[in-house]
Amino acid sequence: MFEVQCELPAPEEIRAAQPLPAALAAIKAERDELTKQVIGGRSNKLLVIVGPCSAHEPAPVLEYVERLGKLNERVKDRLVLVPRIYTNKPRTRGVGYKGMFSQPDPENEVNILKGIRTIRALHLRAIECSGLSAADEMLYPENYAYVEDLITYNAVGARSSENQMHRLVASGIDLPVGIKNPMSGSIPVLLNSIYAAQSAQIFKYHNAQVRTTGNPYAHAVLRGRVDNYGNDIPNYHYETVMQVLEGYRKVEGGLKNPAVIIDVNHSNSAKKYKEQIRIVKEVMQNRSYSEDFRGILKGFMIESFLVEGCQKHDEVFGKSITDPCLGWEDTERLIYDIAEKV
Ligand code: PEP
Ligand code: MN
Repeated sequence: MFEVQCELPAPEEIRAAQPLPAALAAIKAERDELTKQVIGGRSNKLLVIVGPCSAHEPAPVLEYVERLGKLNERVKDRLVLVPRIYTNKPRTRGVGYKGMFSQPDPENEVNILKGIRTIRALHLRAIECSGLSAADEMLYPENYAYVEDLITYNAVGARSSENQMHRLVASGIDLPVGIKNPMSGSIPVLLNSIYAAQSAQIFKYHNAQVRTTGNPYAHAVLRGRVDNYGNDIPNYHYETVMQVLEGYRKVEGGLKNPAVIIDVNHSNSAKKYKEQIRIVKEVMQNRSYSEDFRGILKGFMIESFLVEGCQKHDEVFGKSITDPCLGWEDTERLIYDIAEKV
């Protein structure tokens, strides 16, 4: 049984009510181009997608991205920083806080209309106060239309990477889409997703039959895997990255722009958030060892917020209410460290 709780305006209506000003559109266009250059191999910079696991409240996220914008100015010759502003959260067991999109106030009831307006306002303000446009997770592909003019990087999560609709919508996005390895860690499944997203597709999207041209910027994100007993098993090591490269090369019909981003939290760190520092350093070491590795490794995804760790309820300003994060000082140091070694 479904009960309609609230009719929602069409995405065009939502976008028109909270439009992207021309000055911010210019920033986003420039950030899009820089990000595509990295994934497309036309730039030797590394991409660092960094920020909280979930953006549960606008104020700390805006403070965070403002700091990141300033940091970006200092490392922009070597790195492209993209803030994580994740407004939709997948849940392992399907219940609990599902992100600002559903719950603009994490302690209150679901209110999707308010959620959509809140995330648009947040993304707009974030571009304005940081000069950076963000990454978000495309958890519900049809909802991409609410933020498509604001986002520079889209992630397809580990629980979604085998899903047909995610792959099809990714094929129509003219931006980097990072597809995570599935929870099982299967590299063939990951490469199949990238293949689907890089292919031209025809399907139903919103109220239309649409045709896409395929997205050459769809690429791999390694986030570690979970084995059949629930243990986190990392996959950031040299061997796995080289296997992904091998896999890219062997795909019949070919894949464009071989690219790997290492997500250093989640099953790679077993959510021991401080391990993110060590993992980044190990990966940078591997990068200096092999030209092939250097070619395919395009950057990192790091979970970080103002205050390290996590909390159950929103009590401490700037502390994650989902996965534990690095704090700001560690993050800043780590980003300088990456920049130094590029
Ligand atoms: C995340 O990036 O916070 C996330 C939920 O990742 P994954 O899909 O890899 O679990
Ligand atoms: Mn997370």
